[in-house]
Amino acid sequence: MNSNEAGMPFRLASRRLHPEDTIVALAGRQIGGGTFSVIAGPCAVESEAAFFAAADAVRAAGADFLRGGAFKPRTSPYDFQGLEREGIRLLEEARVRTGLPVISEIVDVRDLPLFENIDIIQVGARNMQNYGLLKTLGHVGKPVLLKRGQSATYKELLTAAEYILAEGNPEVILCERGIRTFETYTRNTLDVTAVPALREMTHLPILVDPSHASGKARFVEPLALAATAAGADGLMVEVHNDPAAALSDGEQSLRPGEFRELLCRARRIRAVVCGDEDGE
Ligand code: PEP
Ligand code: MN
Repeated sequence: MNSNEAGMPFRLASRRLHPEDTIVALAGRQIGGGTFSVIAGPCAVESEAAFFAAADAVRAAGADFLRGGAFKPRTSPYDFQGLEREGIRLLEEARVRTGLPVISEIVDVRDLPLFENIDIIQVGARNMQNYGLLKTLGHVGKPVLLKRGQSATYKELLTAAEYILAEGNPEVILCERGIRTFETYTRNTLDVTAVPALREMTHLPILVDPSHASGKARFVEPLALAATAAGADGLMVEVHNDPAAALSDGEQSLRPGEFRELLCRARRIRAVVCGDEDGE
């Protein structure tokens, strides 16, 4: 390490010290390194019937990973907080049922033992700088998807990733999910620049979540396509069979048919960006 590197807040995450793309491999799939990965599912696991319906629908539409929150970091303590342990059990069942690897958010380090059969652990925007949690996830032996904090700079995001990497877990996936700006018409503002900027700063895979970025279902597809055109390694999209009845984030959730169309267009854009035929 030279004296410049000694002053760097992130080293293991840096493209400069690790020029090749990191590829996260799990369950016969890859994230990063020229692949395009799609994570989809409801914001929250709400009930067996609703979750299995969404899981079947996103699998049929071509998603690669199934999402569903069992622990929800809600702004109000009076809002639905997730099914917790029961939600994890339903994720485990849906994983077997669909054959899709599953991803779910952890909000409290004490819940970690429950995540044994969860394929990817998500750290949400609100916990991006929960350093105790990040350090613990440096020892889990499974991939961690780290979402950008609501007002975090690229450097702060990468320095947060560094906490996980420095503890010995190299499998970190970054996710741009919109940031707070002065604009209030949308829930957040998607920072499309994050994709090429992070691409040059880091070797870690970069996904984009257009659902939390926009907060409005009708804007999810255009943002997803913009992110794909910018070279994202994949997308995370909220899908619900009956958005009006959703217990969280219904306003930004796509119906399965809308998700299928989005995916079809995103794969076509991906093919153009990558110069390949099938957008895989
Ligand atoms: C989520 O993915 O449901 C979520 C809470 O996202 P974020 O942490 O980006 O707000
Ligand atoms: Mn959500």
